[in-house]
Amino acid sequence: MSVNCCSQGSCSSTKNCPKCGNTSKTVGFKTVLHHLKFPHVLGAEESEYYFCSDAACSLVYFSANNKRITQRQISVFDENRAEKICYCFDIDKAVYIEALGNNSAEKIKQFVVQKTKASLCACAIKNPSGRCCLADFKKIESIEG
Ligand SMILES: [Zn+2]
Repeated sequence: MSVNCCSQGSCSSTKNCPKCGNTSKTVGFKTVLHHLKFPHVLGAEESEYYFCSDAACSLVYFSANNKRITQRQISVFDENRAEKICYCFDIDKAVYIEALGNNSAEKIKQFVVQKTKASLCACAIKNPSGRCCLADFKKIESIEG
């Protein structure tokens, strides 16, 4: 298998999560590998992976060849960790929602926007979705704002 559109991150193909049915986007194998607790034990193989973004779903990644990876196998979803909005700069979802209530949200978002523009973020490695979190900021704003 050589380079295809998915390994370059430009692929927009989706699959429905086999657990909850949520539309799940492709995610790079590198992203999957960096979030697994014990990749050598779990035997994750290079494959086409998809990310289920539904926080209520126990499944996080699933592959085209039926490999399933659950929240318990992903370090950032440990029970004692707060839900993040930005994984690159460690911003909790709750912190951002609070900031929306006291007008300091824009400052937080601008920080992330600036760093992203300067290519100082690391979404492909740190965000379990493998994607930029700025769309998630907008999502929270439309719900909470
Ligand atoms: Zn799901």
